[in-house]
Amino acid sequence: THFGFEVVEEDQKQEKVHKVFENVAQDYDVMNDVMSLGVHRFWKDYFISKLSPTNNTKLLDVAGGTGDIAFRFINYVQNYKLDNCHVTVTDINSHMLNVGQIRSKALHHNSDLIDWKEGNAEHLPFEDNTFNAYTIAFGIRNCTHIDKVLNEAYRVLQPGGRFLCLEFSHLENSAAQWMYDQYSFQVIPILGQLVAQQWKPYQYLVESIRQFPRQDIFKNMVEEAGFRQVVYENLTFGVVAIHSGFKL
Ligand code: SAM
Repeated sequence: THFGFEVVEEDQKQEKVHKVFENVAQDYDVMNDVMSLGVHRFWKDYFISKLSPTNNTKLLDVAGGTGDIAFRFINYVQNYKLDNCHVTVTDINSHMLNVGQIRSKALHHNSDLIDWKEGNAEHLPFEDNTFNAYTIAFGIRNCTHIDKVLNEAYRVLQPGGRFLCLEFSHLENSAAQWMYDQYSFQVIPILGQLVAQQWKPYQYLVESIRQFPRQDIFKNMVEEAGFRQVVYENLTFGVVAIHSGFKL
């Protein structure tokens, strides 16, 4: 429904999410700019500065889509002349990864720095203790079982490894939340229709944001997966939040 939440059977959710991103893959990057008025670039830059990669950082970027986080990681590694760093981008949708690979070639990235692998965040195709950093940006709310995603993050990280999640969240101020809801529910699907000729996928994106757990509840979920020193930080008054934790 337009203003309410859509009830999606669990096993249908994955298929539905897949279709959404298959439909939007080509327009995805443009729509990000249009919908967030360009602000997603600052959130993502800040997210990587928060990760502050060092020499030997082996990053797994889950639900990495068209590579926005991975590319920022590569820029950081090159700017700071870090040694022995690598990023693996994984996503359930090969269309998103294909767009990402084309972008990466156009940016002349050193192919030793980046790998692309199709995979489900809930059943990652990697061995235990493989990476020392894990990022997921605007991806976890699309997953059916958040607990499985978090357990998998924990499994593939080495002890000492860091988990970082950037996700849409909830505003602290209820009046601001009301205004934000008006923007999201009324304006975003219209922008989707105007820019990408698609209404439904953008309506779905807005609904998925509203249904995602609040900051403190999600923090508890990260802790339940085994992570320690879990903290979160709100950006733009809670429009998005970054959750951080360590596998100790
Ligand atoms: N991280 C990228 C960014 O910030 O630009 C892409 C975010 S995009 C909003 C969400 C991505 O999550 C899509 O590429 C989608 O295919 C992916 N996705 C959805 N469910 C997934 C799952 N279960 N496992 C892995 N990726 C998934």
